[in-house]
Amino acid sequence: MAGRNEGVPGWVLAVAFVVIAVAGLGFAVATGIAPDGPWAEAATGLGVVALAMMALQFFSSGRFPMLTGRIGIDRAIAFHSWAARLLFATAVLHPFLYMVPTFMIDPSLAYDRVVAMFLGERTRTGLVAWLAIIAIPALVLARKWFAIPYEWWRASHAVLAVVALVAGVAHALSLGTYAGEDLPAYVWLALTVAAILTLVVVHGWRHFAGLRDPWRLAWKKRVGWGLWELAFSRDSGAPFPYRAGQFIWLRTAPRLAPLFDHPFSIASTPRDPDLRLVVKEVGDYTRGIGAFPDGLAAAMDGPHGVFTADPDAKAFLLLAGGAGIAPILGILRDFARAGETRPIRIVVCAGGPERVVAREEIEAMAERLDLKARFLVEEAGPDWEGEIGMLDDALLARSLEGLPVPGTQALICGPTAFMTSLADILLDRGFPADDVHYERFDYSGGPYSRIDRAERMRFRLMGLVVGLAVLAFALRG
Ligand SMILES: Cc1cc2nc3c(=O)[nH]c(=O)nc-3n(C[C@H](O)[C@H](O)[C@H](O)COP(=O)(O)OP(=O)(O)OC[C@H]3O[C@@H](n4cnc5c(N)ncnc54)[C@H](O)[C@@H]3O)c2cc1C
Repeated sequence: MAGRNEGVPGWVLAVAFVVIAVAGLGFAVATGIAPDGPWAEAATGLGVVALAMMALQFFSSGRFPMLTGRIGIDRAIAFHSWAARLLFATAVLHPFLYMVPTFMIDPSLAYDRVVAMFLGERTRTGLVAWLAIIAIPALVLARKWFAIPYEWWRASHAVLAVVALVAGVAHALSLGTYAGEDLPAYVWLALTVAAILTLVVVHGWRHFAGLRDPWRLAWKKRVGWGLWELAFSRDSGAPFPYRAGQFIWLRTAPRLAPLFDHPFSIASTPRDPDLRLVVKEVGDYTRGIGAFPDGLAAAMDGPHGVFTADPDAKAFLLLAGGAGIAPILGILRDFARAGETRPIRIVVCAGGPERVVAREEIEAMAERLDLKARFLVEEAGPDWEGEIGMLDDALLARSLEGLPVPGTQALICGPTAFMTSLADILLDRGFPADDVHYERFDYSGGPYSRIDRAERMRFRLMGLVVGLAVLAFALRG
């Protein structure tokens, strides 16, 4: 069931971000209030764009198909963390810029004024917002260093974001030179309500909708070392429309509360009655899967994601590494059920033979489709029938044999370094960037591909436009 990914195009989102981020500056100018000198105006300008970007962060969480349906969760999250850095820098600088003129004349007086500003009653809400904005990235680092459970981190992230936004808007409305005017005040309030509504929708409305539309674990089986296949069926029996390769957010009993959902790619085809997942044991939730009883209650939010087959592609190159087989298997199963006639090449990579998933099923599909499959493991004994080593340029060239470039869509899923290095190799081999698709399972870092770097460059351009708007605001006569 290949279909097109629907949603707002990336360029529209980029323009909307810049316009909303700087709109507060326009409102400020429109008040007609005389500017208060370049440093004070720069400080105010930074505060205004920081606050708007804080509100926009709620929309770029990757949970709204209308916003991410075209760009995908990978780009949405990449943008979310990039914008978080820009917002952090602007928010941190905001109070200090007011003091620059004093600092240039008398540094110790500037110091006293900074202390008075931070301890003063009038700026209390501003201080709360400022500290919350600093605490958000501090907690991102703390999660890495102190192994804070993901759910606790998510909860604190959401709470701090709400505190930062509400306190920031209260600060702007009470103390801001421009925001307290009627129209800007209503706009700030509307933006705040809309931002908080995103959390209510995802963790409230969708949570209860999920509980009212229960699923059950139909069966589970071990399909590799530390790898499980799970099949879920919907109590209502209603179809669950999705495109092969998409993912869902899954909650299972007894952890059905909001914030306990985990993203997993769908390993089945929408033509199957059950929804299947392939899950690797990595942490506290996934290591418990072996103990899941049949009939376990579950809730789904989705489908999400753009890791799907392009209906216009002439051929497909599927590259799976480890648990990355999940969406690739979903796409392959969909091709098999649809009787796909276009050429398909797949390379399934795993640490060892005991981690290769669905080999027999894929080999059986190869007898019916124009499908050539290779199985590659890092290490294996003499019984292994397949390739040994890492997926490199030479093996990729052999796997590509006969596929048109451009014209072939490459879908890559696996560990981050696997995806980014293969994406670069494919670009070197003449694949247009638009034909190379991958979706990360983990946002905690890892190398970038040239596609990622080009994307960051576009983000920086957006930051530059926002920065120039603040500069123009500060220097206006
Ligand atoms: C779009 C997408 C699709 C995915 N598809 C699959 C799949 O098909 N098969 C598979 O095995 N894995 C998949 N994952 C990864 C899977 O979500 C994590 O491995 C799982 O949530 C780990 O949970 P844990 O509690 O066992 O491990 P933990 O030790 O708690 O977490 C390990 C890492 O997984 C990530 N993670 C943990 N919990 C969450 C959460 N609730 N939301 C987002 N990220 C989380 C974090 O980066 C964390 O550092 C996918 C991830 C994403 C983003």
